[in-house]
Formats: sequence, C-alpha cells, structure tokens
Amino acid sequence: MNLSKSDKILVTCGLPYANGSAHLGHLRTYIPGDAYTRYLKRFGLDVIFFCGSDTHGAPIELAAVQAGLSPKEFTEKYHTHYKSIFERLNINVDLYGTTEAPYHYRRAQTIIRILEKNGHIETREVGLPYCETCQTFLADRFLTGTCPYCGAQARGDECDQGCQRYLDADQLIDPRCVTCGNPSIIKKTRHHFFKLPDFTDFLIKYNEQLKGTPLARNYALGWIRQGLKEWNISRNLKWGIPYPDDDELVLYVWAENYAGYISFTEEWARQKGADWEKYWIRDGKLVHFIGADIVYHHAIFWPAILKGANYNTPYAVVASGMVKVEGHGLSKSRGFVIDIEDDFIKNQIDLDAVRYYMLSYTGFTKDLDFVWKDFQTKMNNELVGIFGNYAYRVLLFIHKNYGKIPEGSLTPETKQKITQTIESVQKSVDEFRFKEAIDNTMQLAAYGNTTFQQCEPWKSIKEDSTRCQSDLYQCLQLLKAIAILIEPAMPTVAERLWLQVGQTGNVHETTVKDCLEPLTSEIKLPKPKVLFTKMPDEIVEKMSTILTHRIKSARSKAN
Ligand SMILES: [Zn+2]
Ligand SMILES: [Zn+2]
Repeated sequence: MNLSKSDKILVTCGLPYANGSAHLGHLRTYIPGDAYTRYLKRFGLDVIFFCGSDTHGAPIELAAVQAGLSPKEFTEKYHTHYKSIFERLNINVDLYGTTEAPYHYRRAQTIIRILEKNGHIETREVGLPYCETCQTFLADRFLTGTCPYCGAQARGDECDQGCQRYLDADQLIDPRCVTCGNPSIIKKTRHHFFKLPDFTDFLIKYNEQLKGTPLARNYALGWIRQGLKEWNISRNLKWGIPYPDDDELVLYVWAENYAGYISFTEEWARQKGADWEKYWIRDGKLVHFIGADIVYHHAIFWPAILKGANYNTPYAVVASGMVKVEGHGLSKSRGFVIDIEDDFIKNQIDLDAVRYYMLSYTGFTKDLDFVWKDFQTKMNNELVGIFGNYAYRVLLFIHKNYGKIPEGSLTPETKQKITQTIESVQKSVDEFRFKEAIDNTMQLAAYGNTTFQQCEPWKSIKEDSTRCQSDLYQCLQLLKAIAILIEPAMPTVAERLWLQVGQTGNVHETTVKDCLEPLTSEIKLPKPKVLFTKMPDEIVEKMSTILTHRIKSARSKAN
C-alpha cells in the first residue's frame, strides 16, 4: 500500500449541488468514495470521510425562484434529501455538512482573509456583462454564449456542454442574457481576483507528483501549460456567502464550496472533541473523489487556494468516469436519467446490488453506461448465480447435517488462497481499481464453489466424516473471508453473511487479518437464508418502460 498506518487519511466526495434530486451520476463518485473508505478501514488504516451539500450560486438562485421558494428553503429541502439518500445507500460519512451552515461561512471567509493578507488577491474595476433590459449583472448561468475554444454553447463561467474549461465572462462570443435573450453589454464594476498565475510553477510541480487517477493529473497539467488567468472570486448575486468586508458582493460558489471539506472536518472535530488541524494544517493525507467534470477546480483552483492560505494540499485527486443511460450522456432535461429515490428505492431494487453494479460494472475511470437489462444480468449471474449460490449451498449443507461449525483447521491451500486474494484486493484499491478488487473477491466465491463441488461432501459424509468436516470447514472459512472483503461494496449483505457463518461482533469493525482468523468449531449456525433473489424479467420490463416514458415526455416538452 502507498498509505501507512501512521497516516491520518481524510476522504471527501465532490459536494452534491442542492438543486435537484439524487441520480445515478451522483453514485458514480459517492459509492466508490464510501467503498474506498471502508476498504482502508478493513486494511487497518486511520481514515475519516466527509461530504455535504453545496448550496450557493446562480443556478440555485434561479431554480429557487422557479420553484416558488426562497433559496434557503429550496436548498434545505435538497440537503435533507441527499442526507437521506446517503443513509439509505450506506454511504457512511462521518459528517454530512452543508455550506449554508455558520461554521462553513466562518471557514470560507477566513480563507479569503488569509489569501488577502498573503497578497494573493487583487481588487479592481472590471467590465462585466450587464443586461440593460433586466438591469442586472449577468453572473455565470445568467449569461450564455459561444465557447472561444471549442465553439460549444457555454455559460458565463464554464464550457459545461463542450470542452469543460473554466471561462471568464468576457471570453464568450456573442454573449446574451439568459432571462430575456438580449445581447449583454459590458459595464464597469468592482471585483476581487485570485492571482492564480502566481501559482503556475507550484501547480506544475504539484500535479506532477499528485496521486490518484492519471486523468486528473494529465488534464490539469495540460491546462496549466496553456496558461492560467486571474480568477474572479466574487459575484453580483444576492444568494451566497458575503465577501469579507464587501457587502455588495458574495463569494463565487467555486471559491467557497470546497472549503466545506475543511469546515465539515472542523464541525466533526468539534462534536467529537477531535483535532481538525491534524488533517488540514499538519500532515493529513487528503483524498478527493470527484467526477471528471470538476478536475479543473480540484487540481488547479483548490490546491492553489490551499497553498496560498497556508493549508495542507491534497494527496490524491481521484476522478471517476461519467454515467450514460442507455448509450446517451446522462441528462435530466432529456430524460436520460435514473433517479435514486423514484427508480431504485420506490421499486425496492436491492441497494447493495446497486452498489456492487456501480463499482464493478466497468473500471472506475471509464464511462458507465447503465442499461436495466445489464443490471439484471450482472445481478442474476454474479450475485445470485455465483456468490449467493455458493453461500447458500455450503451453509444449508452444514446446517442440515451438523447445525454447527464442523471440526477442522485451516489448510495451507485455503490460507494461501485467502492471502493471495487479500494482497490483490489491496493492490487494486491502492490504484483505485475497484472493479478489479471486487472481481478478485468474487473469484474467491467461484473457487469455493468449485472446491465444494469437487469434494462431494454429500458422498464423503458417509465414507469419511473427518475429511468431510475438514472440507466444509475450508468452505466456511472462505465465506468468512468473503464477508470481510465484500463489506466495502455490499455492507448489508456482509452483515447478514457474517451472522450466517456464526460470527459475533461487527463486520464493519473487522480487518483483513480476521479473514485468516480460524473459525471456532462447535459454534452453532443459524438456519441459512438466501443472500440475493433473482431480479425477474417483469421488473426489468417495468423499469425500462418507465425510462422510455421519461425520455418521450422530455422530448415532447422540448418541442
Ligand atoms: Zn469549450
Ligand atoms: Zn435580460
């Protein structure tokens, strides 16, 4: 492992923007973030995990007006929603915070004050897009135009549909007001700029050694070499964190939301009597899980802010691939979306199977194309057919014939097989290859299945009871190891399996060492229950129909 037992590891996930319900795209990062944290705990490492709601910015101000709510009411609604989705999916954060909390305002403003003091901010008059019809400055989403780099339609602050670059409002070609559609004019106003170009040399060196996925690093280095620009961190908006000592402006949402990683740590530390500075001022190992669309912010802006304000900089930026739905880029407005609550939860889809699917359908950095039929195939063939089948066969046979853990001891062969699996899982997780880690664990189940089949305990029980019991003991030990190694992917299934193999204590507190801790013979075993049930064709048809309707209705709305 790259990380060691003395490291103070802090994992975060990119904050969900509190302006709509949770969908599959969110899970592409949150489930791996949670699984990674659980793996590190299983490896005996010291780790904490944070996430929370991102609540400010122009899009929320816009959406709240449309919903007939104040921005505060609007974001509180979605904050509660995300918190409950995290709980339902066992995304086990140490604190689910919000950027609307006073503790966050304090930290965000403190960071700006330190940057000012250290000479990294310049305040000056600039010309910004202004709509004479609406009599307002056009911040971010209130402005639209053409990206000067790739020609796609872009917003005032980024090329969200095209090359994903961060943009300054004055770079857009043919800029227009989103509200009334009229061309914008340029009007003078005072703003605060973060002197990003001063960090160019630092950022190149920093990104060259940055751990995580190569994609994050390489994108960032490419952008830095093209040249960095000063970055306007203030906005003419009503909704947001007041700019320190400047009542007319608020902080740009991307100049304060990631401060949540610090402020949530502080709040957690306050509640637990722990020390947050250990992570952020001294030698913490900070690992950020993000979607590939916010690499610029996490590999360029954020480390520069942290460096400029004397904080510890991230150890790793881990960028996931994106999500597609039936071959199309995930899009709520076009109906290509899977909603966590409406689709998965309301239809009682096995949420551990969802976690398993998100982690192991494809590599972490690849795009994941969700198709209901594929979900069913994966669930029925792998979870029901291999894993569930193995567990149930072994447990049922033992329960019927012995009712307790059979006599036996760990053979060198079983020991070696488990040891090899642990080593390969550790190596995979170290490289953020979650699919590989899970596939290796599942191979242990496939191996167990073959062993059970070859030993023919239904014969040996009559001919050689000692051998029969020893063989079954190996099979059961493999199941115990699988329960521990699969816990990061499927925490609920792991709990159930843990009890079925006669273990007491909490599987969420085990470490991989326990995989090799020999089972105690004579312990009574409960009557086994199946771990998974087959997903029937009717559900797949029902869910596919729901999706088709959603796409059609989006299309008719658009026309
Ligand atoms: Zn572009
Ligand atoms: Zn206008």
